[in-house]
Amino acid sequence: MVGGVNDCVFCRIAVGQAPATKVYEDDTLCAFLDIRPIARGHTLVIPKRHASELEDLDAELGAHIFRAGHRLALALRRSDLAADGANLVLNDGTAAFQTVPHVHLHVIPRRHGDKLSFAAGLLLRRPHDPESTAAAIRAGISALAHEDETSAEERE
Ligand SMILES: [Zn+2]
Repeated sequence: MVGGVNDCVFCRIAVGQAPATKVYEDDTLCAFLDIRPIARGHTLVIPKRHASELEDLDAELGAHIFRAGHRLALALRRSDLAADGANLVLNDGTAAFQTVPHVHLHVIPRRHGDKLSFAAGLLLRRPHDPESTAAAIRAGISALAHEDETSAEERE
């Protein structure tokens, strides 16, 4: 297939050929839990179509990926993970510590006073019960969608 699907782990995840705990997907992107999370709920948003770096990524798709990351950051606040904030980080290129050569946006939930656990997470990068974590994020996404519906009704 085009784009080196067979030797790119994120391409394999995108088409369901490699395991990942997905929390969201649409036609052009998907979001799944980082297998080595810095914090519980650390999610990656990737384009389904292979792009190694921003240089190869369609700008509209890049905007769409950020939009999804934005919504995930809001969903994490509404989830049982009760994030107070988030780091949205995209490391573009090996010079910038990009480790998997397929564009990915990190969405890392943060809490007030988490400096020490965050620093430990950077070193340990240990998974935290992916199924319950993903369920919490999906519930946060649903809560956000419900708010959107409610505010749309209020505008009518
Ligand atoms: Zn790829």
